[in-house]
Amino acid sequence: MIRLASRVQQIKPSPTLAISAKAKAMQAAGVDVINFGAGEPDFDTPENIKAAGIKAIQDGFTRYTAVPGIPELKKAIQQKLERENGLNYEIDEIIVSCGGKHSFYNMAQALLDPGDEIIVPSPYWVSYPPMVQLAGGKAVIIPTTEDQGFKITPEQLGKYITEKTRAVVINSPSNPTGSAYSLAELQELATVIIEHDILVISDEIYEHIIYDGFAQHSIAAVNPQMKERSIILNGVSKSYAMTGWRIGFTAAPAPLVAAMTKIQSQSTSNPTSISQKAAIEAYNGPQDFIAMVLPAFDERRRYIVKALNDIPGISCFNPTGAFYAFPQIKSLLAKSLNGQVIASSLNLCALLLDEAKIAAVPGEAFGTPGYLRLSYATSLENIKNGMERLACFVQQLI
Ligand SMILES: *Cc1c(COP(=O)(O)O)cnc(C)c1O
Repeated sequence: MIRLASRVQQIKPSPTLAISAKAKAMQAAGVDVINFGAGEPDFDTPENIKAAGIKAIQDGFTRYTAVPGIPELKKAIQQKLERENGLNYEIDEIIVSCGGKHSFYNMAQALLDPGDEIIVPSPYWVSYPPMVQLAGGKAVIIPTTEDQGFKITPEQLGKYITEKTRAVVINSPSNPTGSAYSLAELQELATVIIEHDILVISDEIYEHIIYDGFAQHSIAAVNPQMKERSIILNGVSKSYAMTGWRIGFTAAPAPLVAAMTKIQSQSTSNPTSISQKAAIEAYNGPQDFIAMVLPAFDERRRYIVKALNDIPGISCFNPTGAFYAFPQIKSLLAKSLNGQVIASSLNLCALLLDEAKIAAVPGEAFGTPGYLRLSYATSLENIKNGMERLACFVQQLI
């Protein structure tokens, strides 16, 4: 018998796994499942970026590189931070890792001692609490409600800070809710962060996927005292439809970046050489991709939010960014279909898949039961079809 490490036993398997594995199995068996579970853009990586990857292979750029990323890519990221976020970082304050998730993982490993606390507002991205736990830290959850736009208030943040608090995670725009903090809200949070001398981990992966003219800001830039307290996580996955290339980065104070580099040097080594060349093209090449896909995302957002709100018993928050709808389904709980009672959102997702052939992620995965996450990074036709199925399903409940 293999005895596994206790650290593995501490973390729970994602509640999304059962449903997504089942959705895939059904699709493989020829069942017409509409998948709202995906957490990635449905568009292809732009041609100029693909070409840069192909050229890297043809040029023989296929060996180990510098562990924290090649200087040319770090320079491109440095320029991106200045151009888009108004932030001036030195080259030794930037490290490239194998995706934004790996950036967070290495950051937690480099930052946390046993018992150190990281404040995570809920609904949260599924991976934050387990990555904090795997580093020996404790994820302290601040619940937020739809009424407060799924955003923490400065008063709430103040109340949750203890002597063990190292940092608060701010993911704006947010996965799973699509909520985003305004400049004034970020400034208020920054005041509390400075007053209590903690750090902020700012996950800015959805910064370009914003609607209704929302003015996006990095919390690192809202106050001159914030840069030294900020750990910026970002990458090419969402902004350039490059999820499979695995390139993310961290911009943070040099000692943290050096510590992350040490961890990376003893674990993964450099991110893929070919992907690094493609990421240089993403940051330095034409920036028209987002402008091209944003109208499609926005059209889908408007359609799905309205369609959800039109279904009796479902209400949906209007997202400011990202590509997720996060409808509330509490009044469907305790109803039943063919004798099967809907006891929870987890339960509802299982039934939706079986009976309506729609895959969605239950709110439990994000620490918020009573909600579903539907990704609208899929065609408008799929969305229309899926919303018809959902309306029909809800109509049959008693
Ligand atoms: C997708 C995503 C990331 C980054 O994912 P990678 O594929 O690892 O680059 C980071 N944070 C959030 C909230 C995300 O949804």
